[in-house]
Amino acid sequence: MLNLVLFGPPGAGKGTQSQKLIEKHGLIHLSTGDLLRGEISQGTELGLEAKKLMDEGTLVPDEVVIGMISNKLDANKDAKGFIFDGFPRTVAQAEALDGLLDSKGESISRMVALEVGDDELENRLLLRGKDSGRPDDANPEVIRKRIKEYNDKTAPVAGFYKKQDKFKSINGIGSIEQIFGAIDKIIKTY
Ligand code: AMP
Repeated sequence: MLNLVLFGPPGAGKGTQSQKLIEKHGLIHLSTGDLLRGEISQGTELGLEAKKLMDEGTLVPDEVVIGMISNKLDANKDAKGFIFDGFPRTVAQAEALDGLLDSKGESISRMVALEVGDDELENRLLLRGKDSGRPDDANPEVIRKRIKEYNDKTAPVAGFYKKQDKFKSINGIGSIEQIFGAIDKIIKTY
């Protein structure tokens, strides 16, 4: 299996690149943000709880997203591999993911980090908010909170994969095709 963690702050381009990667490599896209928004649109209890936190830019509890990922791994036993997008976002989530994959005799192949500076992120997210309809993209205060959550809780996850010698970082500024080419090169070396 090719199991890729696409890493980077909100607005780095993970969703866009994931779409291209699943098309080319036939992988399953697991975005915890998308899964949570699905729960919200279905009006589930989990969605209602998560919405409050998401609207203010705070991470939802680890056990909620770990449970969702565990279900998706079980539901896709024959997959060629997975792209994890927006997950793991804490070291506890990364440890849990290792455990889930290990129990299936699998592991993470690579983490690819998209590097984009905070000012650029803020501009991109505000622009995206005009079309995305996402409440957390529309408000500069919430955007700054999401970036702070990333720097405080998520950035340390890079160290987790560096220790396993799986971390690669690329410049997240450039054309979609340029960035895709850089990610693809890393995948080919695997
Ligand atoms: P995203 O679509 O990845 O930008 O996620 C939107 C929001 O969903 C985040 O700001 C968090 O509130 C929540 N979320 C998504 N993925 C996670 C995760 N792995 N851990 C905790 N919260 C998450």
